[in-house]
Amino acid sequence: MPERKGSAWDEALKQLEIAAEKLKLEPSIVQMLKHPRRMIIVAVPTRMDNGSIKVFTGYRVQHNNWRGPHKGGIRYHPSVDLDEVKALAMWMTWKCAVMDLPYGGGKGGVVCNPKEMSRSELERMTRRFTAMLIDDIGPYKDVPAPDVYTDSQTMAWIVDTYSQMRGYYEPGVVTGKPVNIGGSLGRDQATGRGVAICAREAAKEKGIRLGGASVAVQGFGNVGSYAVITLHGWGAKIVAISDSQGGIYSPSGLDPNAVMAFKQKTGKVSGFSGSKDISNENLLELSCDILVPAALENVITAKNASRINAKIVSEGANGPTTTEADQILDEKNVLVVPDILANAGGVTVSYFEWLQNLRREHWALEEVNSRLETNMVKAFNDNMDLTKKEKVTMRTAALMLAIGRVADAFARLGLFP
Ligand code: NAD
Repeated sequence: MPERKGSAWDEALKQLEIAAEKLKLEPSIVQMLKHPRRMIIVAVPTRMDNGSIKVFTGYRVQHNNWRGPHKGGIRYHPSVDLDEVKALAMWMTWKCAVMDLPYGGGKGGVVCNPKEMSRSELERMTRRFTAMLIDDIGPYKDVPAPDVYTDSQTMAWIVDTYSQMRGYYEPGVVTGKPVNIGGSLGRDQATGRGVAICAREAAKEKGIRLGGASVAVQGFGNVGSYAVITLHGWGAKIVAISDSQGGIYSPSGLDPNAVMAFKQKTGKVSGFSGSKDISNENLLELSCDILVPAALENVITAKNASRINAKIVSEGANGPTTTEADQILDEKNVLVVPDILANAGGVTVSYFEWLQNLRREHWALEEVNSRLETNMVKAFNDNMDLTKKEKVTMRTAALMLAIGRVADAFARLGLFP
C-alpha cells in the first residue's frame, strides 16, 4: 500500500477517512469501520526439534463481516505485529468488496522466522495455532489463506487439524490448498491472470490495441510470470522482465515461457539469449504501453514517477506506488489500475475454491478461468464507471466503491441488538 510516514495502520485509517469524506458517510459508520470487529492474540507453544518448547505469538484480526465471513491470509514473519495485521485485515475488507465477493476482511500472522525452522517445527506450530483459533475460524466464520512464507502445505495442516478437532472433514476452512485435497485448479495462476485482464481492459480504455502492445514486468515470481505469460498469449509484446538479480530487455519482444525455462535452469532471468541486461530502476522507466510492477512495495515514488513512460500501470504487487507518485502519474495521464483491484484475482479464485468445497465439487480449469474473467471485467467496469463519475483516480474510486458497498450492507442489516 502507499508510502507510509506512520504505520500501515495509520495509512489504512487515512485512506478510510478520505474515502468516507467523499462518500459523506455517517461518522458512526466510519467509527465502526475504524475498529476491527475482533482481534485475537494467542500464545503458540511449540515443541522444537531439540526437545525445547518455544512460545510464538499469533494474531488473527477480523476486521469486518457485514458482507460475509472474514477472508484473508496468514503470514509467518519476524516483523508481524498487531498494527500490520489490522491494516492488512482492513485492506482485505475493501479488496473483497471491490470484487463484490461475499466476504469481509481478516488477516493473521505468527511472529517467527520460518527460514530458521524445520518443516516439522512449522507443522507443529501451525497445528497449535489452528487449535488456538478453533472456535474463531471456519467456512462460515473466517477463512484463512496462504500469505508471506505460508503455502498450500500450511493450509493442508490447518484443514487436518480443524477436521480432527471438529470430527468431520472440512476443506472449506481455508483456501489455497493443494488441489488433491480440495484446492482449485487455476488458483496459482489467478493473481497474474487478473493483473493481465485489468491491463487488457485498461488498454481498451486508452484505445491501445493489445496485439503488439509493449509490456514491461518487474518481478518474475508467481504474479509477474503468469501476468506476462497471459498477456503474451493475447498477442502483447513483452519487452522487459526482471527479478531480484536484475532485468532483461528486448525491443523486439521476449517469449516469457522461454524466459521461465531459462530462469528455472539458471536461477535468474539475466543472461537470456538475445536480450540486453538492464537494471530494475531502468526497467520501470522504459517507454512502453503497459508496466506491471509485481515485486515489492514502494517502487514507484515521488523520485521516479515523473520518469515513468508507461501509458498503463497494472499493479501486481501490493502497494508498489506511493501516494505522491500516484498524483504525479495522474497528472501525466498514466492510467493506474490499483492493487486492490488488479491483484484481486487470487482472492476471487479463493472464493471459487470455497464454493467448490461447500458443494463438494471440482470445477474444470476452463470454468474457473471463465468465471474469473467475468468477475474481473465486471469489477474493472464498476471501478471505471465510478472513476469517471467522480472524476477521481481509479485508486480513490476503488476505495469509494468498496467502502460504499460495506456501508450499504450495514444500512440494511442495522445494529445488533
Ligand atoms: P514471488 O516471491 O513469487 O515473486 C516475487 C518476484 O519479485 C521474484 O521474481 C523476485 O525475484 C522478484 N523480486 C524480489 N525483489 C526484487 C527487486 N528488488 N527488484 C525486482 N524484482 C524483485 O511473489 P508473488 O507471489 O509473485 O508476489 C509478488 C507481489 O504480489 C507481492 O507484493 C505480493 O504481496 C503481491 N500479491 C501476490 C498475490 C499472490 O496470489 N501470489 C496476491 C496478491 C498480491
